[in-house]
Amino acid sequence: MEIFRLPALTDNYIFLLSDAASQTAAVVDPAQPEPVLQQLEQLGATLTAILNTHHHADHVGGNRRLLQQFPEAVVYGGTEDRGRIPGQQVFLTEGDTVTFAQRTAQVYFVPGHTRAHIAYYFPPTEAGGWGELFCGDTLFAGGCGRLFEGTPSQMVDSLSKLRSLPDTTRIWCAHEYTLNNLKFALTVDADNRALQDRFNEVKSARRRGEATVPSTLGNEKRTNPFLRWDQPALQAAAKITDPVRTFARIRGMKDQF
Ligand code: ZN
Ligand code: FE
Repeated sequence: MEIFRLPALTDNYIFLLSDAASQTAAVVDPAQPEPVLQQLEQLGATLTAILNTHHHADHVGGNRRLLQQFPEAVVYGGTEDRGRIPGQQVFLTEGDTVTFAQRTAQVYFVPGHTRAHIAYYFPPTEAGGWGELFCGDTLFAGGCGRLFEGTPSQMVDSLSKLRSLPDTTRIWCAHEYTLNNLKFALTVDADNRALQDRFNEVKSARRRGEATVPSTLGNEKRTNPFLRWDQPALQAAAKITDPVRTFARIRGMKDQF
């Protein structure tokens, strides 16, 4: 399975999963149809699956047009999103699986950004290999999604599930928000050397016009303030020790940043 990262809209990423052997492809969160259709044409591939993480327009905007072109494609989404994802046919809950290119993704129910949000995790195929996590707007490189339909405690539960995956998991998040996220992170975790280094790397990468996605879970655990609610530095910044309230306070500060 090869993964293509397609920029869309202002700062979205669409991910196209390609299976060269069968000349089929699956797409994660098609914000727009055009970049997907272009890439499919280049590959000479047929689209067989649309994997949606949640119902927001910048994640499902391409569904209808892609289904017109590929009526056989199956549209997956969370069961709580029933009625909100165009063309949805499969209604997934925690522990369900989705198979593509002889790899099987595990579905995680990760409410918080929306009440229905799910993530798709492909475990590594060999010891020491990468796992692939498609987490939509739940976990970002250096940040996390805003809480539009969920509570801080739900989001901490959701992020805890993702945080427990192996460090060697690639984080394919749906937006290029990393630089701004890390700017904020430095305001609440200023003495974190790994964070300072990452900020400098990301600043240079963005100046060169490079993408900062995918990230890795190991890197996120060291530097992302929204996975660090139990760290003393973050609790000091939030002036609270309770983990969920620490998370809530940091999230609130980011909303105002
Ligand atoms: Zn969203
Ligand atoms: Fe989004």
